[in-house]
Amino acid sequence: DKFKTGLAKTRDNFSNKVNNLVARYRKIDEDFFEELEEILIQADVGFQTVMELIDELKMEVKRKNIKDPSEVQSVISEKLVDIYSAGEDAPNRLNIQDGALTVILFVGVNGVGKTTTIGKLAHMLKQQGKKVIMAAGDTFRAGAIEQLEVWGERVGVEVIKHSEGSDPAAVMFDAVQAAKARNADVLLCDTAGRLQNKVNLMKELEKVKRVIEREIPGAPHEVLLVLDATTGQNAMVQAKTFKEATDVTGIVLTKLDGTAKGGIVLAIRNELHIPVKFVGLGEKMDDLQPFDAEKYVYGLFS
Ligand code: GDP
Repeated sequence: DKFKTGLAKTRDNFSNKVNNLVARYRKIDEDFFEELEEILIQADVGFQTVMELIDELKMEVKRKNIKDPSEVQSVISEKLVDIYSAGEDAPNRLNIQDGALTVILFVGVNGVGKTTTIGKLAHMLKQQGKKVIMAAGDTFRAGAIEQLEVWGERVGVEVIKHSEGSDPAAVMFDAVQAAKARNADVLLCDTAGRLQNKVNLMKELEKVKRVIEREIPGAPHEVLLVLDATTGQNAMVQAKTFKEATDVTGIVLTKLDGTAKGGIVLAIRNELHIPVKFVGLGEKMDDLQPFDAEKYVYGLFS
């Protein structure tokens, strides 16, 4: 039960406070909602999302004629799942091409856990019987190529690389050729995480995407933005910047095990309209989990 253990810190921060709140109040009034609002904000659910959630809770409490504070918890759970799903069937499903090469591009600033995530996903896909290849497209950060190679050895997946400082678009070109030649199912592409200069970032990502698309029409099939949950609202700022720079199709939220503010999942989904496709719940190979709103909310309260 990875979600339960991975969310321990958030659970301590969030549900203990909610339980405490519910125990202290005899009726549901404005003060009750104000305290609940504060708890949600402290869990990094995000101001806008908290306001929407509180409004909906108030309506639901009225509609169902709920008087007892202890009955509010299940309504909160329900609303959290609703907000996350946003009426979509399976917002978290990875766009995998059946019987054809799927290309997944990873973007994100240094240190967020991009390399680790690529390694973990390579492992997960391999476990599912897929042939995977990784492309060392971060030719900028010292040590990035070696680090991906370490993961390659660990999970038994080939890494296509050039030397440090070389053109990432050339690496991608070779990686696509290799993936085709080896009949690979999935190509996982690392990229450099320079955010200091948005114009350069945009240009580099555009060039890399152009090379991939020229070789495989319709690719990349996913552009996954990796964000570090422990950076809280800073992760939101990064998400906005990357969203402007490229078409982000999903988010991988890492280090959820290391934060008490796991509410960021909801803020990202509700305010940026990007689904969280995976969460990192630890440093080990099998600590990457497809995100599941129900398991997440269950992990928060149980
Ligand atoms: P990159 O610079 O974005 O490629 O980041 P790395 O993949 O090198 O990760 C930076 C650090 O975060 C490493 O020490 C990883 O082990 C750690 N890390 C990555 N994902 C997770 C996670 O989900 N949970 C925890 N606790 N640590 C993680």
